[in-house]
Amino acid sequence: MYECPNCGGNLKFDIESQLLKCDYCLTTQNPYEITKDKDAEESNAFNVTIFTCPQCGGEIMSTDTSAAEFCSFCGASTILNSRISNEKRPTRIIPFKQTKDACKKAYISRMKRALFAPDELKEEKYIDSFRGIYMPYWAYHISQSGNVRLKGEKSYRNGDYLYNEEYRLTGDIDAYYHNLSYDASSSFSDNISQRIAPFDTRDMQEFTPSFLSGFYADTADVDSGLYRNEALKLANTTSFNKLKYNRAFTGMKISLETNNIFAMSQALCTTYNPPERVMYPVWFLSCRRGERIAYATVNGQTGKVTADIPVDTKKYTIGSALLAIPIFILLNLFFTIKPTSLLGCSNLLAVGTVFLHLWEITKIYHRDKRNDDQGYQFRQEKNSPPGTESKKKSSSSIPFKELLAFSAFDEKHWLPGFIGSLIAVAVAAFIFNLNPVSDIWYYGGAIVSFFGILFTIVAIIKKYNVLATRKLPQFNRNGGNDNA
Ligand SMILES: [Zn+2]
Ligand SMILES: [Zn+2]
Repeated sequence: MYECPNCGGNLKFDIESQLLKCDYCLTTQNPYEITKDKDAEESNAFNVTIFTCPQCGGEIMSTDTSAAEFCSFCGASTILNSRISNEKRPTRIIPFKQTKDACKKAYISRMKRALFAPDELKEEKYIDSFRGIYMPYWAYHISQSGNVRLKGEKSYRNGDYLYNEEYRLTGDIDAYYHNLSYDASSSFSDNISQRIAPFDTRDMQEFTPSFLSGFYADTADVDSGLYRNEALKLANTTSFNKLKYNRAFTGMKISLETNNIFAMSQALCTTYNPPERVMYPVWFLSCRRGERIAYATVNGQTGKVTADIPVDTKKYTIGSALLAIPIFILLNLFFTIKPTSLLGCSNLLAVGTVFLHLWEITKIYHRDKRNDDQGYQFRQEKNSPPGTESKKKSSSSIPFKELLAFSAFDEKHWLPGFIGSLIAVAVAAFIFNLNPVSDIWYYGGAIVSFFGILFTIVAIIKKYNVLATRKLPQFNRNGGNDNA
């Protein structure tokens, strides 16, 4: 902790004044003017307490040594294990701009629109556990400067002739991309960091550890090179598109003669500079629901909210029933529904729900494997014994056995959720094939279909909740120093 020079109290970073402020005597201090003895010793490292969650292995750091009582990653209320560590020092930081009250307000107004969300996500006590965390990012700097050659092609018709003209275009490029930022923590999911982006990097300040006082920070455990190609590709395609759609080249087809990112870098005179360690502020909230967890994140600079919002099955069912009644009455007013078309419609609905369900399962499968999270994948690969990497590639198709497991109606019932709609389809096919004279068959078929589809729809809502939440994290940290 940082001691108040006036009374010895605890100095914490105060968002409103952007200064350090004493809890007791309200004295303020410039963050750069106060250091702990140990901070100064090594310029590229600083001392922090690392808290490790005994449940999930998630790690979070603080400049304060007082015990942390809950884990933001898995939602467990438990005393976290602590140890002192020497962490690599970031070069720059965006200090918190949004106060906790502003963050809570932004979250509450977001949740007002979530009509079917469970009440517990809106409870004051729950909302109060928002925690201010600095998330580590890699900031890439890429510049392009030098002579560029482009190929231009123009074709037009004049009278009976078709003209093809080719141009060799040369010119100078002078472009730079500062602070292309990528999430450097394997515990912070890439899909959250993308959703709360962007951060305005003009607010960046030189890092000093006292900025962290009163907040937590996530450890940076992803190699700096991981997003290198992505950053290069972004810079190269952005610059190339600028050139291509330049007004001077209207009507001309411009090409670089290559799409390969390395060749493109060469053609555009791209220089890659080693990325910087930086920290960006987020307010973070986690809500555990059984074996799943929901996160809410508020950008600590801009106030942008992103939240995993599950649906309360009861609220949703009542809500849709209330909505279905007027729709049904309206339909009855305007159309006379024939028994055959009734069965036909329910058949279409059944087929639709099967596809919706399959689509959901595929998404859950990839989400739970965290296939979209490069930082996490990087960590897993690093921890897995050599030779196990090969199976990662075939991730786009799901093995049938896993598909069945993922489609189970819920944890207790092994029945796949799409079975209801499949029965509905089979019954309809059977009746249409039979082509009976009596309408009773069609009505009966429609009723069977209705229950079949209902079964699948409830399964879809349940799966939706799985999709709207995350698997409880389990960070396999293989001991040792993460920064080694
Ligand atoms: Zn004081
Ligand atoms: Zn935990």
